[in-house]
Amino acid sequence: MLDADFFRRWMTATADCVDREAERLTALDSPIGDADHGSNLQRGFRAVRDALDKEPPATPGAVLVQAGRLLISTVGGASGPLYGTLLRRTGKALGDAAEVDEGQLAEALRAGVDAVRQLGVRRRATRR
Ligand SMILES: [Mg+2]
Repeated sequence: MLDADFFRRWMTATADCVDREAERLTALDSPIGDADHGSNLQRGFRAVRDALDKEPPATPGAVLVQAGRLLISTVGGASGPLYGTLLRRTGKALGDAAEVDEGQLAEALRAGVDAVRQLGVRRRATRR
């Protein structure tokens, strides 16, 4: 079973990975974007790591909802809403359970992916 600490370590490991790869992400962004993808994600995941270190939420769902909200509020461009929505909606789908199993996580991630897909659908609709 996966508890809140597992999810906190997952987000912390992601933040560490983004720190290591920030320069490469920005270099990849520069030919097609405005060369800020690495620094944007780094700002967001640092905020997530700091918040989770300071006051770790009690449930897996709460960890992901908090991480998602912080990404939405601190990361600019499209990636904040995309990553943030994925985590927030996945967390919401996990509910208040103190522990979840792999099947519940897989189901919740599908809800998160569907929410991201809906963002794309709404975006296409408003461009018409
Ligand atoms: Mg950008």
